[in-house]
Amino acid sequence: MKKILIILLLITLTGCGIKNTNKKTIISTGFAGYDFARAITKDSENIEVKMLLKPGAEIHDYEPSPKEIVDIQNSDLFIYVGGESDEWVKDVLKDIDTSKTKVIRLMDLVDVVKEELVEGMEEENEEHEEYDEHIWTSPLNAKEIIENLNKEIIKIDPNNKNLYTKNSENYLNEISDIDKEIRSIVDSAKRTELIFGDRFPLRYFVDEYGLSYYAAFPGCSESTEASAKTISFLINKVKTDDIPVILKIELSNGKIAEAIAKETGAKVLEFNAAHNISQEDFDKGITYVDIMRNNIKSLKEALN
Ligand SMILES: [Zn+2]
Repeated sequence: MKKILIILLLITLTGCGIKNTNKKTIISTGFAGYDFARAITKDSENIEVKMLLKPGAEIHDYEPSPKEIVDIQNSDLFIYVGGESDEWVKDVLKDIDTSKTKVIRLMDLVDVVKEELVEGMEEENEEHEEYDEHIWTSPLNAKEIIENLNKEIIKIDPNNKNLYTKNSENYLNEISDIDKEIRSIVDSAKRTELIFGDRFPLRYFVDEYGLSYYAAFPGCSESTEASAKTISFLINKVKTDDIPVILKIELSNGKIAEAIAKETGAKVLEFNAAHNISQEDFDKGITYVDIMRNNIKSLKEALN
């Protein structure tokens, strides 16, 4: 009996069970990498894509379990962002054997910028030299990442090269459509200024489309309480620039945005930075493209 138990345990731990003999696995720490790999491998029976972060969970608080660390070591492709939210990866990669795993740091695939402090923002206690990790919020960065991931995925399963290439092309086209739509909204908009009564993980997005912004906190600052000074700065901005919409990000309590809205009569809308999605949206198979399509609606109202 004991012997059987040990054998079963070994099978589970080493991942040599009969079920998953040939299936390759891709693991992504966050939603963007997961979504892109899922789109590329759509309809493939050879590859399984997993997201470490649980749907609905706050990405910046995530820590991997020992079982998940084993899963990373056993994966064929491991995708992480390489910024603040998955800082733990650096240490894990030092401790595990990744000789059979292709490791991709998304921040190596595109041009990165440092987080910036704009007028009116709460200053953080820590030094402000962090690179902004929210690279995927620019659709053009998303395209660059997908092109790179496609090449790596073909390397782990060359037999399905045509499928992955076709899937990538389809997804890249959808993202190009989004990009065009955003450009046309910005081109014909009344204003180019956005106000976030929240954290600001959308630096790459606004830079891409030449938009200006004010926000309560830079990047994904850990602070959630804004000072009276910050709130009154944003209220004044909304009043003087006649701003119709205060934006808040996903999984936010929206308190700051609501406070500004109450004083100014502006409307609160969500702009989803696609860190993660709710369990309900995850079960529905909501994609990065779906999220951006919703953002386009908020953007249109906010700029007009
Ligand atoms: Zn963030």
